[in-house]
Amino acid sequence: MELETNRRRVVTPDATAPDDLPTISGDRGLDHEERLIFELGRAGVTGVDLPEAQITDARLGGMARKSPIGLPGLSEPEVIRHYVRLSRMNYAIDAGLYPLGSCTMKHNPRLNEKMARLPGFGDLHPLAPRSATQGALQLIAQLMNWLTVLTGMPAVAMSPKAGAHGELCGLLAIRAAIAARGEHRPRVLVPESAHGTNPATAAFAGFTVDEVPAKPNGHVDAEALKAKLGPDVAAIMLTNPNTCGLFEGEVIEIAKAVHAAGAFFYCDGANFNAIAGRVRPGDLGIDAMHINLHKTFSTPHGGGGPGAGPVVLSAALAPFAPLPLLVADRDGFKLVEDRDDLPEGARPFGRMSAFHGQMGMFVRALSYMLSHGRDGVRQASEDAVLSANYILASLKDVMSAPFGEGPCMHEALFDDSFLDGTGVTTLDFAKAMIDEGYHPMTMYFPLVVHGAMLIEPTESESKESLDRFIHVLRTMALEAKAGKIARFEGAPRLAPRRRLDETAAARKPVLRWKPDPLQQAAE
Ligand SMILES: *Cc1c(COP(=O)(O)O)cnc(C)c1O
Repeated sequence: MELETNRRRVVTPDATAPDDLPTISGDRGLDHEERLIFELGRAGVTGVDLPEAQITDARLGGMARKSPIGLPGLSEPEVIRHYVRLSRMNYAIDAGLYPLGSCTMKHNPRLNEKMARLPGFGDLHPLAPRSATQGALQLIAQLMNWLTVLTGMPAVAMSPKAGAHGELCGLLAIRAAIAARGEHRPRVLVPESAHGTNPATAAFAGFTVDEVPAKPNGHVDAEALKAKLGPDVAAIMLTNPNTCGLFEGEVIEIAKAVHAAGAFFYCDGANFNAIAGRVRPGDLGIDAMHINLHKTFSTPHGGGGPGAGPVVLSAALAPFAPLPLLVADRDGFKLVEDRDDLPEGARPFGRMSAFHGQMGMFVRALSYMLSHGRDGVRQASEDAVLSANYILASLKDVMSAPFGEGPCMHEALFDDSFLDGTGVTTLDFAKAMIDEGYHPMTMYFPLVVHGAMLIEPTESESKESLDRFIHVLRTMALEAKAGKIARFEGAPRLAPRRRLDETAAARKPVLRWKPDPLQQAAE
């Protein structure tokens, strides 16, 4: 149907092409379908002009390459468009609410980015001489001070590059401390609600893992934990607040029992963003805890990196902190890189990585801390907890909340029992969220809750943004219960890819693109 309004022809929806009419270009809308760069590239094309080589004598003996190396050939705008188009397929915290529980997808303030790009930080080479790096070393020292003050712990190892890497650092320090005592303690206790990295880390560090059950209320079973303590236990690894979003209220009593048994208390500090500025882990009797700067202190998460997972250490573990050590003397700061130069009492277990850690993340984290101030860090934690409780209170009558009597900490845990008998599966529900413009929440974790759905809104969402999210989830839950399940069947309908065969992708990953020998690009 066509209407004449203001002499412009308006085409009303019933006159438009059907949704499934193929486009001429093969693209659908302004976010283009994109082929691999090797498929786009072609011979004889290059984005750069290089001067003719002046040196013509081959100096590589018989080692010179005889065939082209297979680089794709594209013009500069084609390369730029390729990566911009790919980036538009990526969902990001800058694009919308990202409710992944446990991951703390909070806003990354642009001020952090500005600071990290200051030439004095951004262009500094890790091998630059001591005289040229005093400012950077001072920044690391200042960040270390914030971390030790916020946690109430005397020492911090800065070089671990992720939470999981920090766990390994903590357990290696514990292993060294136990060896220094001449003891043999092969066992580490890990609650069954733990993040998968905890048992993996303990095993990787050479320990055997002994699981501690959870109580029906989502807390670790402290009695069962105490019963497992003994002279062969090296450590417990406890997450607090735990992965169900609950504060382990018996933590001090647990720490006392662990220490009485001669073991160490490793705390998974991934959830520090719920308590930073309110609780000092050192006061709870913790010996080692990693802090995910990319969770609590707003540095970007990026495809598994570049993260930073500094580990705070108690007085008992501090001597075993890995190299390099940051020390100050009359000439300013320096990094102690080897054992010939150790300060009094230091007995490093080794080192975790090259250089001193993720400098770019250190700058961003300190920028976040200084721009928030002590009260602001505390308010961020409080607001994160408030947001999660708002979600829990607003959804628990239509979605099932296993520990919904509340309050929770920084994340709200639901399970899939509200979908029982509706014909809608947990996965259908998550995939239908994609059609609504939301990344799904964390699914099937923690394992202690069947069909878990873990939502972490963080403090960076406004109330309006939370209300809109709540409205969408409430409506979805009510529709599922009312038998209106069309939007769930085969969802997502509106994403560039529909439901993928994730099992086949995991079992038979295709990780190599085989170049077509005829399509070799210009070299
Ligand atoms: C994120 C997380 C980890 C691992 O941290 P990474 O930085 O991703 O290695 C460990 N434990 C818990 C509870 C987490 O949420």
